[in-house]
Amino acid sequence: MPDRDPDCLLCRPDDADRFFGRTRVWTDGTWRLSVVGRGPVVGFAHLEPVRHIPFVTDLDGAEAATFGSVLARVTRALRAAAGADLVYAAVFGDRVAHFHVNLAPHRSGDALAGGPAMLVPGAADAPAAEHQEFLTALGHHLD
Ligand SMILES: [Zn+2]
Repeated sequence: MPDRDPDCLLCRPDDADRFFGRTRVWTDGTWRLSVVGRGPVVGFAHLEPVRHIPFVTDLDGAEAATFGSVLARVTRALRAAAGADLVYAAVFGDRVAHFHVNLAPHRSGDALAGGPAMLVPGAADAPAAEHQEFLTALGHHLD
């Protein structure tokens, strides 16, 4: 996997900062944290590897080894700076295929709806058999 993908917006951080209205606030050379300076959530930030890693399922190397400690460090800082109760962390990947964690400091009563908002309104429960088949398949993949 190349370190940079010229077609990837997040591999061109100056362009990404302009596009999202971001300010780069921290890097350790492996990860960088950028805060989006507009929108309904003050302190909304992107944590992304400097190296082009498309999806969470592609994490490896130094990024995989440091992800947990970096995530804890930056979310503690965001929580403290925002005076937030907690920090939501969401990973998608279907719009920008360069792994990034969307970090949203959350206070009770703010603009964030939390976990249930990830579901399409009125989504039906999957059949119980599908849940059971998944557990079986996952067990094989985790072995
Ligand atoms: Zn990239």
